[in-house]
This record gives sequence, C-alpha cells and structure tokens, in this order.
Amino acid sequence: MDSQASSKLRPMGAKRNPPIESLRHVFQDSMDRMSPGDILLLDDNESLRDLVDPAFFAILSCPLCGKLDLITQSQYSGIESVICGYDDCSCHFRIDHKQALIYLPVN
Ligand SMILES: [Zn+2]
Repeated sequence: MDSQASSKLRPMGAKRNPPIESLRHVFQDSMDRMSPGDILLLDDNESLRDLVDPAFFAILSCPLCGKLDLITQSQYSGIESVICGYDDCSCHFRIDHKQALIYLPVN
C-alpha cells in the first residue's frame, strides 16, 4: 500500500539531460560556443596559451552546467578530481584516460 512512498526524487532532471560520459576535444575557433563536456587543450592553441596562467592545462566546460573553468594537468590526467566552481552546480567528477567522465559524490 505504500508504493507512492517508494518513488524517488531525482534532483538532476536526468530525463532531460543524461550525464555526459566523455569529453569532446575542441579547438580555439569553437571557444565561444563550447557545450557541456567540451575541453580545449591550451597546448594546442598557442595564442590562448600565452594568455592563461601556466599552472593550468585546459579549459573545460562543466559537463553538467556548461560553465567554463580552467583545469590543471593533474586534473586532466585523472590524478586529481574536478569540482565545478559554480556554486549552484558543484559537479564533482574525475577524468579517466583523458576522456571518460566519472561522476563523484559531492562532499
Ligand atoms: Zn558546473
């Protein structure tokens, strides 16, 4: 009799936006229209490379909210996880094999 109570709420709205499973590598000419999950490697784009702090390795569009953020080589290599810097998102994930996205719980 409690079938209603067992229905679960899904905060991410998974029906509309299934989680993106892998990164898509793009180049500088696509920078102003990057989609969630797109990544732009700074080493492949010299004019951008000169503008960005050498501590960072790539520009990543958050796979959940699409906000652009800078990530380090350690994050790109999967050594460190990535947390979206946007307060309303806080998507936490790891990049596996420089391609696949593994979502992690938000602490
Ligand atoms: Zn985000």
